Amino acid sequence: MAIIFVKQKRERSIQHKHPWLFSGAIERVEGDPQLGETVEVRSFNGDFLGWGAYSPNSQIRVRFWSFNQTDNINRDFLKKRIEAAVSLRRLLLADDSTNMYRLIHAESDDLPGLIVDSYADFLVIQILSAGIEYWRDTIIDLLHEILHPEGIYERSDVSVRQLEGLEQRSGSLFGLQPPDRLSVSENHHLFWVDLINGQKTGFYIDQRDNRQKFSSFINGGSVLNCFAYSAAFSVYALNAGAESVLSIDSSVEALNLAKENILLNQLPLDKCEWLSENVFTALRGLRDRARSFDTIILDPPKFAPTSALAQKAARAYKDINLLAFKLLKPGGVLFTFSCSGGIDAKLFQKIVSDAALDAGVNAKIISFLTQGPDHPVSLNFPEGAYLKGLVCKIT
Ligand code: SAH
Repeated sequence: MAIIFVKQKRERSIQHKHPWLFSGAIERVEGDPQLGETVEVRSFNGDFLGWGAYSPNSQIRVRFWSFNQTDNINRDFLKKRIEAAVSLRRLLLADDSTNMYRLIHAESDDLPGLIVDSYADFLVIQILSAGIEYWRDTIIDLLHEILHPEGIYERSDVSVRQLEGLEQRSGSLFGLQPPDRLSVSENHHLFWVDLINGQKTGFYIDQRDNRQKFSSFINGGSVLNCFAYSAAFSVYALNAGAESVLSIDSSVEALNLAKENILLNQLPLDKCEWLSENVFTALRGLRDRARSFDTIILDPPKFAPTSALAQKAARAYKDINLLAFKLLKPGGVLFTFSCSGGIDAKLFQKIVSDAALDAGVNAKIISFLTQGPDHPVSLNFPEGAYLKGLVCKIT
């Protein structure tokens, strides 16, 4: 097995069990490790630091499997890690109101680069690292053995794989291919999901608890759902008694699915308005037409995947939050989110506060929101806390 020696004084983050070793921290490589192979990582002085998966093309040159010298990285090791992730979900989601959840959340479940989402009887797997790619067949076999799904579908069709030197790929891996539209439930609300072509692995599962919270704020009134995707927040709004919901998304396919989700829940389509438009222009149009709303949701895509893009992203977040504050009725409530890794909670709050100031409104934060418990955050991997939400009430 190849051995990676770390530069002097660069072992600190490893001793704190951070799962990534960057290329710049490496002194030398002894041997010729191939893509995804297990390597031993040692300090400059030769002391054992950990076992990891080698990725020769990536800035993240090694992702750690373990910091324990007696571990063997093999099928049994992976089995224990998968079982630990599954039993955590059983503990967290022990009711029948929901049958879609994230089963494995990559680094945060000590399986760096592996995402597994469970939708009713199907699993969707996304492989984001060379190490998981190396163990792909074993992992699929273990998922089958531990969970007995009807089918496992791969959605490794994301561009970040390039950073690991991996091609994009998707397709059925085991059992039945999921139907074009699968019906699933979240907090007793029903949704059609398209596991094959839908965004992410089919649904934004991480917002489950926030949607529940959101519905408790609905007291009749009008709702504006920006970046609506398949209208999950709109379904909750109507179910909780909203008078009208305007849903905006640039994707026509998303809004087509969205309309079917309203019908699936036997909710009134005549209370729905749809806009397939860029939110940045749509909000200006609503302002110019003097529209106003009791509750607004802003749930945009990742504007800043990394901190290098934070400044540009900050301007975009400020723009939509400022417009949203202007469109709120007196006493109205804004649910505003950022899932950008490059924008931390403190900066996000500052952006929203600047937006309120420039919009000329007084607002208070009445709740801080984050991702659901099936997207845990490892204490040694704070980057795992990516979803930030604020509930702001105009006072
Ligand atoms: N709120 C959704 C998830 C939103 S994901 C839910 O609860 O499921 C972000 C959505 O924004 C995607 O559906 C994407 O199609 C849409 N989108 C991205 N950029 C956009 C833009 N500039 N204007 C409008 N929609 C956009």
